[in-house]
Amino acid sequence: MDNHNKALNFLEQIIEEDLANGLDTKKLRFRFPPEPNGYLHIGHAASICLNFGLGLSYNAPVNLRFDDTNPAKEEQEYVDAIKQDIKWLGFQWDKELYSSDYFQQLYDWAVLLIKNGNAYVDNQSSETMALQKGTPTKIGTDSPFRNRSIEENLALFERMKQGEFDEGTHVLRAKIDMTSTNMLMRDPIIYRILKRSHHRTKNTWNIYPMYDWTHGESDYIEQISHSICTLEFKSHRELYDWFLDQVCDSKRIRPKQREFARRNLSYTVMSKRKLLQLVNENLVNGWDDPRMPTISGLRRRGYTPESIKKFSELAGIAKRDNVTDVALLEFCIKDDLNKTAPRVMAVLDPVKVVITNYPEDKEEWLEAENNQEDVAAGFRKVPFSRALYIEREDFREEANKKFFRLKLNNEVRLKNAYIIKAYQVVKNENGDLLEIHCTYDALSKSGSGSEESQRKVKGTLHWVSIKHAIKAEVRLYDRLFNHEAPDTQKDVDFKNFINPNSLLINNEAFVEPSLLTAKIGDRFQFQRLGYFNIDIDSTPNHLVFNRTVPLRDSWAKTEAKD
Ligand code: ATP
Ligand code: MG
Repeated sequence: MDNHNKALNFLEQIIEEDLANGLDTKKLRFRFPPEPNGYLHIGHAASICLNFGLGLSYNAPVNLRFDDTNPAKEEQEYVDAIKQDIKWLGFQWDKELYSSDYFQQLYDWAVLLIKNGNAYVDNQSSETMALQKGTPTKIGTDSPFRNRSIEENLALFERMKQGEFDEGTHVLRAKIDMTSTNMLMRDPIIYRILKRSHHRTKNTWNIYPMYDWTHGESDYIEQISHSICTLEFKSHRELYDWFLDQVCDSKRIRPKQREFARRNLSYTVMSKRKLLQLVNENLVNGWDDPRMPTISGLRRRGYTPESIKKFSELAGIAKRDNVTDVALLEFCIKDDLNKTAPRVMAVLDPVKVVITNYPEDKEEWLEAENNQEDVAAGFRKVPFSRALYIEREDFREEANKKFFRLKLNNEVRLKNAYIIKAYQVVKNENGDLLEIHCTYDALSKSGSGSEESQRKVKGTLHWVSIKHAIKAEVRLYDRLFNHEAPDTQKDVDFKNFINPNSLLINNEAFVEPSLLTAKIGDRFQFQRLGYFNIDIDSTPNHLVFNRTVPLRDSWAKTEAKD
């Protein structure tokens, strides 16, 4: 391992032990095995970072294996999306492989099991088999077909393969132990009949192997040294090992299954089945909806690969189930964008300011620093003129001493520009505020070096020049669920916890003109507001921004307003 300073997680410790016991480092090989039945989510990112991270630490190959044994749910669209997401995260797989490539080998091994007296065809109904299976406290009973002759089993299995039987009428079962304390060892099914076209093998097969049978044998075929999966497979490990025993050649690598805790995240759901429901029921706008916990959703929302990898690192690898606070993910993106995102000014809820002592036709292009955290980011020019927009909530006619924004007869600094003082408001007959009249201090220009420019005033506001501003659409996202753990509430469907305000569309935002040249995907800090990026729906005539994350956490209850 090339990083000796780092504390090792428990999986790395297992690998180190194996190496100490004589395993050749060159024999290390890992895999990431997604089922192409949906898009990858932030939980998968944990597994990707773990497996590919081990590959990088040990300079070992990592296979991308599509676990595609269920033709009913799998699609090419998902295969493509999964590859795109892994690449975007910045990882490179060694081989792109498919469990379906092993269908013939798996079939041949199933025949071997039958020949060795270790598998049989059962043609009872699934209900009957379930009853015979027993319970954790009651041993199972043998199927009446358990002792079929090898010849009869071979003939029936061949006929299953040929498509002679209907779905649900026959299965192939491993002959293990109906009295085992591990229910999974009570003659598990290894093949079922499915008359479905597979996204790769098309109509070649009428029978498909079950997950447990496929997974370990695929690991063996690929010579994976450490097969890392999530905790719910712990009880499958005994079966994984039993299946390996049937085929494993002692001269070859025998894969080792080890388990870690799934990544769960607060305020969202993570199972693909539930995410698919959100998509199919139009509760979100597709898999890449910026509110989704999918990698494609996070990407569209403005998350960077670095922030997701940092999150995986900080959240760590655990042995026990736990829930990670989504605030950690938000921290990671804020921390990354703080260093990298250019600052710009945008006003989301505008109110007009008129600087009455500023000449009517004058305009100035003021120098503005792009990112105070990154000197190399340089400067840009922002236009200033007599009529500006500021944020409506940044003004009050009257307010107490703690309000450091604009109020009548008080001064604030306009970011990158001048100190202004409000002296009068203009309202319509309903009392709605139309204009705030101010004066400016011509000597107070930021960066001019004058004594006046150094003058300290308490508040600094962002603004845009009305004449130069570009109208834009801004999509304000919030958490998709208003419950911390939406899918663990007894008797309540997780969809009941959808946050009705998870998307607010603002069509009346104004941004500074430098944003006209921005491209889809570009990320910015709208000063004082948050981080935003340009959505794929954006066009040169209609800019569309996504709010990636606000600067402040509006969910923190005890937040100081100013
Ligand atoms: P889901 O329940 O979301 O459908 P899955 O486990 O069925 O997930 P797979 O495509 O089979 O999804 O997962 C591919 C790999 O990613 C597996 O090794 C799996 O253990 C891992 N993985 C899936 N979800 C998580 C998660 N929440 N945290 C960590 N690893 C995960
Ligand atoms: Mg799965």
